[in-house]
Amino acid sequence: MKRFKKSEISEMTELIHGEKPNKKQICPVCKSTCNRKVTKILNQQLELIKEKELLWYSSHPWHGGIDRLFELSHFEWACDSCIEQGKALTSEIEKQKFCDYPPYLMYFDKIRECEKCNDSFTFSKEEQKYWYEELEFWVQSIPKNCKDCRKKIRKKKSVNTELSMLLENGNENISSKNLYRIAELYEEMGKEEKMKMYLTKAKKRMKKENGKK
Ligand SMILES: [Zn+2]
Ligand SMILES: [Zn+2]
Repeated sequence: MKRFKKSEISEMTELIHGEKPNKKQICPVCKSTCNRKVTKILNQQLELIKEKELLWYSSHPWHGGIDRLFELSHFEWACDSCIEQGKALTSEIEKQKFCDYPPYLMYFDKIRECEKCNDSFTFSKEEQKYWYEELEFWVQSIPKNCKDCRKKIRKKKSVNTELSMLLENGNENISSKNLYRIAELYEEMGKEEKMKMYLTKAKKRMKKENGKK
């Protein structure tokens, strides 16, 4: 493979990314200008990626290595003092699932807008750690909805699942108890007509069941 000069790599990366590397690093959290010598935790994280070759594309000559990528603001990070003050959390890179997108070096709170209710919500650093390291979601996935809306969506999903399970075998063989449950579920979904229909069915079924005894 042709060996590229540092200046050539620099030109190529600029062409591709359309931006110049930033030699002065500004902490994304506290916005203070940082010297790489005093960002110990950051350096450890970058070293780990290099050592274990965790990021496949970083060795491509176009990218010019981890440090170069870092200078192009490729990673999310924070300075040591932000971590000490609890404004940022150090990540465990090897627990994260990533391929074409960079892993998180650190986590910090982010404000996002809910796609459902348009309210802004915080995707906290603790949630991010849980999301990417425990639940092992891909690093590029981000929550689209606030907690309340997520809860509602989950509830709606579970209501739908229960309903389709109850309706699976047709109406004929359902017990009055289950018919009442179906009515309840329709009530939760705000479907009044269906709710009334199933309440009537449930009452009839109950009479029938009691008559059998
Ligand atoms: Zn900082
Ligand atoms: Zn919402």
